[in-house]
Amino acid sequence: MKTTFSLLAGAALILAGTAAQAQDFPNKTITMVVPFAAGGPTDTVARLIGQSMGTALKQQVIVENVGGAGGTLGAGRVARAAPDGYTVLLHHIGHATSATLYRKLPYDTINDFESIGLVTDVPMTIVAKKDLPPKDFKELITYVQQQKDKVSYGNAGIGAASHLCGLMFMSAIKTQMTTVAYKGTGPAMNDLLGGQIDLMCDQTTNTTGQIKGGKIKAYAVTTKTRVPSLPDLPTMDEAGMKGFEVSIWHGMYAPKGTPKAAVDKLSDALKVALKDPMVVQRFAELGTEPVAQDRATPAALAAHLKAEIAKWAPVIKAAGEYAD
Ligand code: ASP
Repeated sequence: MKTTFSLLAGAALILAGTAAQAQDFPNKTITMVVPFAAGGPTDTVARLIGQSMGTALKQQVIVENVGGAGGTLGAGRVARAAPDGYTVLLHHIGHATSATLYRKLPYDTINDFESIGLVTDVPMTIVAKKDLPPKDFKELITYVQQQKDKVSYGNAGIGAASHLCGLMFMSAIKTQMTTVAYKGTGPAMNDLLGGQIDLMCDQTTNTTGQIKGGKIKAYAVTTKTRVPSLPDLPTMDEAGMKGFEVSIWHGMYAPKGTPKAAVDKLSDALKVALKDPMVVQRFAELGTEPVAQDRATPAALAAHLKAEIAKWAPVIKAAGEYAD
C-alpha cells in the first residue's frame, strides 16, 4: 500500500516537473538541425527562420548541419534526440519522399516526429555551369539525350529535393546522367561554379543570386507559374516539358513525445518569424515566400506530410529505374 502510494506520488511529481519545464520553455539554446550542408538552400531558410524565432522566444536558436544520405542522417539525429523541444528539425519535401525512396530508414517518418508547422514553398530551377553549350531548355534536352552519362548532375543524395527533381527530369527524357551526390547543394553549387559538374536542379534560395550574377546558366523553373524574382525564366511546362511541376515545401518537426506546450510555443514563434519583415524581404529576394499563417501549424504539417508521402510514392516508383 505504502509502495503504491509513493509510486503514485513519484509519478505525480515527475508529471508536475514536466509540466513546469514545459511552462518555462524555452530556458536555454534551441538547436535547429538542418539535414544538409551549410551554405545550401535549406540552411539559408533555417538560418533566417531560426534567427527570427530566437528573437520571438527570447532564446538563441543555433543551426546544426547534419548533411548526408539525402537528409536522412539529420532526420535520424532529431528522431533520437531528447523530446524536450530543444532539438528541432527543419527539413523539406525530402522527408516525405525518402519514405518511399529508402527501403529502410533509421526512423519512422510519421510516428517518430511531432509536427510544428509548414515554413515555405520554394520553386526549383534547372541550372548549369556557365559554359554548358545548350542555349535554351529544348537544346538542353537534346544535349543530355545525346551526351547521356557524359553529363554530370549534382544532387544532395537520394531523398534530397535536388535528387527528386533530377529523377523526374531523367525519367521524362528517358536518359540517365551521371549523378554526383554531395552532403547538400551548397557544396554542389561550389562545384557547379567551378565547372566540375555540369547540371543541377536546385531551389531558388540557392540559385537566384548566382543566376542574377551571371555565374551560372539557368534554363527553367519547375513551378507551374514563373517566379517573380526571375521573370525571364520559362517554366518547364512552357519550355516543352508539359505537366512537369515540383515545388519544394519545408516543415519543422520535433522528436516524438515533445510536450504539447513546447510544440505550441515553437509553432507560435514560427508564425511570428514568418511575418517578420526581414524574413519576408529575404525570402522574396530568394524567390520564395512564407506560407500562410494557418499552414504554420502542427495539424497542417501533419496532414501535408501524409498527403505528400501518398502523392509522391507512385511517381517515385514509376521513375524508380532512374534512381541512383
Ligand atoms: N535542399 C537541397 C536539396 O534537397 C539540399 C540542401 O539544402 O543543401 O538538394
